[in-house]
Amino acid sequence: MLSFMFFFMLMRYSDVSDCIFCAMQRGEIPFAEVVSNEFLFAFMDIGPLNHGHVLIVPKEHYANIFEVPPSLGAEVINAMQGIGKAVMEATGAGGLNVVQNNFAPSGQAVFHIHWHLIPRFEGDGLLKWTPGKYENNNQMTSLAEKIRKALA
Ligand code: 5GP
Ligand code: ZN
Repeated sequence: MLSFMFFFMLMRYSDVSDCIFCAMQRGEIPFAEVVSNEFLFAFMDIGPLNHGHVLIVPKEHYANIFEVPPSLGAEVINAMQGIGKAVMEATGAGGLNVVQNNFAPSGQAVFHIHWHLIPRFEGDGLLKWTPGKYENNNQMTSLAEKIRKALA
């Protein structure tokens, strides 16, 4: 049991020591801060999808949505509302996307969870959503059944 705990702590330490967002908090990498509190910090994304693209990041290192304690959810929503409104106001955006990637196939590149706030402008052509379709209703409902079973 002790060796398992040691292994887990070592794994976690290597995640944190390799992590660019943890390095920012340690003052090792400069960034343009927007705001910070006890739980979260927010800063300008260095590769903005549109100008004004901000990242909201928990101060604690969690790799993805499956690691975040649900109790942090209210803080995150509160930050999204406040910072999202300020991003829209400062950029004159008419819309805002909130995006959060989990694991490499989704596009996650930094494995310390973060929420993207992306200001959107009419006709900017970003993040176009092309709807797919099911072959038939049965295909959709049997997938719903499979997901329900996975929830149990
Ligand atoms: P992901 O693809 O993991 O959801 O998003 C990672 C984001 O972090 C990207 O949008 C990328 O531009 C941003 N990013 C990566 N490295 C840095 C950095 O050193 N500074 C800042 N400000 N943003 C970064
Ligand atoms: Zn980290």
